[in-house]
Amino acid sequence: MAKPKGKTPSLLTMSTGTPTIHTCGKATTCERCNDKVATGHICFQIPKQRGGFTARPIFCVACTAAIIDKTKTDLLAIEAIVISHL
Ligand SMILES: [Zn+2]
Repeated sequence: MAKPKGKTPSLLTMSTGTPTIHTCGKATTCERCNDKVATGHICFQIPKQRGGFTARPIFCVACTAAIIDKTKTDLLAIEAIVISHL
C-alpha cells in the first residue's frame, strides 16, 4: 500500500452508509492511497455523498482497515461523552 496523504478518515464523517465487500471487475484505484486493486481482488466500496448523489468509491483492504480503526476511536470518544450525560 502506498503512503496515503492526510489524516485517516472516519466512517462517521466520510460515509453515508456501510462499506460493502466488492470484487474488482477491473483494476481500480483505491480512493485513499491510490494503489491499484487488481482485477478479481477484494476491495470495499464506501458510500459517500458527492454533489447530491451517492458515489461508491473503492478502498483497498488495508485502507478500509485503517478507516474502520479510526471510526472505532471516534465512536468510543463520542460514546464516552454521551454516556457521561446519561
Ligand atoms: Zn488503499
